Amino acid sequence: MRIDLHTHSSVSDGTEPPAELLATARAAGLDVIALTDHDTTAGWSVAEAARPRGLTVVPGMELSCRWLPDDQPPISVHLLAYLFDPVHPGLAAERARLRDERLHRGERIVRALTRAGYGITWERILERSAGGVVGRPHIARALVEAGAADSVDHAFATLLHHRGPYYVTKADTDVCEGIALVRAAGGVPVFAHGLATKRGRVVGDDAVAAMVEAGLLGLEVDHPDHSADERRHLRGLAADHGLIVTGSSDYHGANKTTPIGACTTEPDQLEAILAAGTGSPPLRD
Ligand code: AMP
Ligand code: FE
Ligand code: FE
Ligand code: ZN
Repeated sequence: MRIDLHTHSSVSDGTEPPAELLATARAAGLDVIALTDHDTTAGWSVAEAARPRGLTVVPGMELSCRWLPDDQPPISVHLLAYLFDPVHPGLAAERARLRDERLHRGERIVRALTRAGYGITWERILERSAGGVVGRPHIARALVEAGAADSVDHAFATLLHHRGPYYVTKADTDVCEGIALVRAAGGVPVFAHGLATKRGRVVGDDAVAAMVEAGLLGLEVDHPDHSADERRHLRGLAADHGLIVTGSSDYHGANKTTPIGACTTEPDQLEAILAAGTGSPPLRD
């Protein structure tokens, strides 16, 4: 069994529509994938209709959250959520608020780039994201299109990274509140790429303990952005707190170089997720 529990479609900042993403997963020999677009469940119904036989799809999402340390600016944390009820009012409202927050923040980044002479427009970004969830990868692609960067990675490295001149923060969900909401909706919250230092500042063990207290059920350990040391540390934390351990590619289609299935989850850990999730069933034969 090959299981990849973190993938993005063009419903957020991946490049393949959900149906194509599922076909890619099957062609890569995967048995199970989770569809985890940022702050939306818009891909779930398409995935249900387009699911190839033999492929199990775990409906999910990656919720944009933040941890507020004492005396320091907020740290961005991503929360994977599986098998929650998509119409739970509190969680649905929070997703909608985050999508709106992304639109305002995206527009501010793009307007600043336009003013600085980069040949991109907010209207073009909206066109490209086609009503989906807007993120910096859409801006990166527009910059590539305009000849201002060689690749999405290059656009991030030069202009869009969190310490870059055009970075704008957004008011993400307090992570403990996010965890409580996911649990209230019958979902399984898993802390995504928690020690990926290459993405920015990361939280300490105290934050993980607080998240466990709030109802966290798992840690994403095997992730392409984690070093061997980071994986070891997270595996230890998971053992200390009795948490589920996952592995996944965080596939974004052509927006990243990572292939689908680059890291995977053990079957017994998937079973624990399926047993804990009560808000929605997995999609399978
Ligand atoms: P945002 O959600 O708008 O803050 O953008 C974050 C997203 O950008 C992540 O989910 C990744 O998909 C993508 N990303 C972050 N860093 C990079 C990078 N260095 N190269 C390519 N994509 C990145
Ligand atoms: Fe992303
Ligand atoms: Fe993420
Ligand atoms: Zn992701």
